[in-house]
Amino acid sequence: MQPLEAFYEKKLTCIYCTKPFKTLRVRSRFSIPYQIDSDFCPNFRAGNYNPHFYFVNVCPECGFAFSEEFSDRFPISSKEIIRVQITENWTKRDFGQVRDIQQALEAYKLAILAGSLKKEKNAVLAGLCLRLAWLYRSENNSEQEKRFMGMALKAYEESFVLSDFTGTSMSELQVLFMIGELSRRLGQYAKAVSYFAKVIQHKDAKDKQKIVNMAREQWRVAKEEKHQETIQE
Ligand SMILES: [Zn+2]
Repeated sequence: MQPLEAFYEKKLTCIYCTKPFKTLRVRSRFSIPYQIDSDFCPNFRAGNYNPHFYFVNVCPECGFAFSEEFSDRFPISSKEIIRVQITENWTKRDFGQVRDIQQALEAYKLAILAGSLKKEKNAVLAGLCLRLAWLYRSENNSEQEKRFMGMALKAYEESFVLSDFTGTSMSELQVLFMIGELSRRLGQYAKAVSYFAKVIQHKDAKDKQKIVNMAREQWRVAKEEKHQETIQE
């Protein structure tokens, strides 16, 4: 397979400095997962390209990194903080070519910093932390995977409290499910069970059978894991 066939170039404008730049995206037929984990992490065979490597856009001029989920609004004073903490320290680099795992990891870390400084929605920050955890999972680095799952969990909890998932790709049921599933993966079984129950008993549950069925299954798994843990103590 010719690697370049798998990609197309996308023209973007930096939402911070407004300069145009180009970045790559993976064509969907080159990124078909053979399996999807219970937290929606897609798994790709060797030779496939992981689109999550290209989820974050990094402006080569100023170093501001963002996903398509970022809003273009910046709270007052955040622009100055971003200038001091990101753009003044930036050495011009191009993330617009085929990325290796190190560049993909770095792009996410830049976007998590940029998004935090700009006070991006918790639901958006959670999605970045979750995808970064998935990249570490694909590298079998469970310590870093857990670290970023923990950050994603905290951000989804904040998002639920503030309802800031409104207007993003996440519904309330999906946010509740992710709190349950990330808690389970981090060994917080009682919390996992209570959040899966919130999905199952939700007022919108009857129209969303797919996620409700997943919550039922993961509720059962978390109960079993909680039980196993009690036996071992
Ligand atoms: Zn820029």
